Amino acid sequence: MADTTLENLLSEDRVFPPSEDFAAAANAGPEIYDESADWESWWMKQALERITWFQEPTVALNSDNPPFYKWFEDGKLNLSYNCLDRHLDTIGDKVAYHWIGEPGDTRDITYRELYEEVTKFANVLKSLGIGKGDRVAVYMGMVPELPITMLACARIGAIHSVVFGGFSSDSLADRIQDAEAKVLVTQDGSWRKGSVFPLKEHADVSVAASPSIEHVVVVERAKNDAPMTEGRDLWWHDLMEGQSTVCEPEVMDAEDILYILYTSGTTGKPKGIVHTQAGYLTGIMTTHSLVFDIKDDDVYWCGADIGWVTGHSYIVYGPLANGVTGVMYEGAPDAPKKDRLWQIIEDHKVTIFYTAPTAIRAFMKWGDEYPAMHDLSSLRLLGTVGEPINPEAWMWYNEHIGHGNCPIVDTWWQTETGMIMITPLPGAVPTKPGSATFPFPGVGATAVDEDGNEVPKPGGGFLAITHPWPAMLRTIYGDDRRYVDTYWSRFPGMYFPGDGVKRDEDGYFWLLGRVDDIMLIAGHNISTTEVESALVSHPAVAESAVVGRKDPVTGQAIAAFVTLRGGFVGDEALLQELRNHVAETIGPIAKPKSIVFTADLPKTRSGKIMRRLLKDISEERQLGDVTTLANADIVAEIAAESAANAQD
Ligand code: ATP
Ligand code: MG
Repeated sequence: MADTTLENLLSEDRVFPPSEDFAAAANAGPEIYDESADWESWWMKQALERITWFQEPTVALNSDNPPFYKWFEDGKLNLSYNCLDRHLDTIGDKVAYHWIGEPGDTRDITYRELYEEVTKFANVLKSLGIGKGDRVAVYMGMVPELPITMLACARIGAIHSVVFGGFSSDSLADRIQDAEAKVLVTQDGSWRKGSVFPLKEHADVSVAASPSIEHVVVVERAKNDAPMTEGRDLWWHDLMEGQSTVCEPEVMDAEDILYILYTSGTTGKPKGIVHTQAGYLTGIMTTHSLVFDIKDDDVYWCGADIGWVTGHSYIVYGPLANGVTGVMYEGAPDAPKKDRLWQIIEDHKVTIFYTAPTAIRAFMKWGDEYPAMHDLSSLRLLGTVGEPINPEAWMWYNEHIGHGNCPIVDTWWQTETGMIMITPLPGAVPTKPGSATFPFPGVGATAVDEDGNEVPKPGGGFLAITHPWPAMLRTIYGDDRRYVDTYWSRFPGMYFPGDGVKRDEDGYFWLLGRVDDIMLIAGHNISTTEVESALVSHPAVAESAVVGRKDPVTGQAIAAFVTLRGGFVGDEALLQELRNHVAETIGPIAKPKSIVFTADLPKTRSGKIMRRLLKDISEERQLGDVTTLANADIVAEIAAESAANAQD
């Protein structure tokens, strides 16, 4: 961003208060914001109430050496104990996961069964020489053995590093090497859209380049004849045979490392984000309970992959520690048909559903008929995470999935924050489509200008987190310097997430995308999110991405890339109509100079639009790194289309 703050273009006046019934029964009411004003003691209270400690902490926060903050430092605990052992007497027979395989096989796992599998696998890890502080790399699909592996590591104090099962051998090798993992847990093959992805073959390439690996444990899932190296590679089922279910949980210090998780790489070299024990558990248990309004009889489904932080916090540790029943689905949302998710919601009477805007835009593109085929009346709460949600996508979600009966929590957070940071509390905050509303209780956030001064409301600038929070990252693995430089140097004393934000006259937060993507048009800072949302508000548009490309007159000009909904044709007339639509909706300054129609947009493997590649295309530059893309082919197609347009 240059010298001014962000333009405020899009304005949204639809407001959705929770129903009286929902508000009356909600886990959090509006008074919680006042109660948490003294945030250190409020977090201490959450930590003491929610966690079962081996030794209770006496101090909340140690700020002696910022930004190396410590939370609940003298407390001792074990996360696997908190997720499993302490539930056995009360909810041992309750289902922890309804697991659904892509080919149609299913498995219900109770808390007791999960406990038994975890203790057994913890003993397996010990037998392979893994102890406290050792790193275990994990490269799997969405199978029950994935959370079992994570919890087994947590039980014995080993540090897990889960690598998303869709990443390449190179990405896996980089991550194994950075963490110097001793064991890799993987599977023969994983199901994706009706075919088998040979995970083990990919893993072998990574392991060949990673001398730290002593053993590879292989779960048999797809029976695709995975190659096994004698002595090094071991089958999960062989190792589990005859193992004891007795495995004392390691007594962990609050600040021992729980896991490393590498960020997805939208913006450059992956960073090994380090999360620790007690603060992390406090943050995710509290947010999970209050944001999703968790009740004992809920059936909760977070549709993310466990390979992302959303899965770590809100499929594994938060939900299990809170003792809820969850759904875990192995496959693609359109396998075998585009109604698979809605079928699962109907079958399992899911009450809470959490997904990403990119998925919602795909559902919109596929058509309203798929959710309409199923009874979704069990749902009572919906959530989103991952990108700003366009108001029209929010409205579609509200109407076609929530049937107007479900509050929607738009949750802003990052791998680095560990927990949800800006979000509605569904029984306490009236929502506005596209706004993540307010900081969670005990979290401080604001908008600042480039000197770090608060931008008055209404107005936009850089998002800044104004004080430490318990689930915060503690460092970048092996690189304290980069931790300080990336997150704590831009605005002294504040955490800098790298996102733009505006606050409206009511103080609602509207996340505006990454600061790096913000466009400077004729002296005005314009966010990509607002122009994209204006495009998506046209009935022909399913999804769009905009970038600022160099322009001799205005400094930058807006180049738009648009994917249409089924049944629309991207001709010259529609192109002009869309340009005018943006000008009318949010102002002439935001009118795209060019529009390219495309079947898809370049996305990361977590489904986020990768704008920097579109910028390269628009400026006819050599393309940047495409290896972290989920759909690399589309880039060449868009480039060809874009070049053809330029000659017109
Ligand atoms: P990398 O850091 O490697 O580039 P990434 O930032 O995509 O990858 P995540 O930590 O999964 O990896 O994503 C966090 C980012 O996603 C946030 O910084 C923000 O840009 C975006 N984001 C997440 N949730 C929301 C939301 N509810 N509204 C707006 N943006 C969101
Ligand atoms: Mg990021």
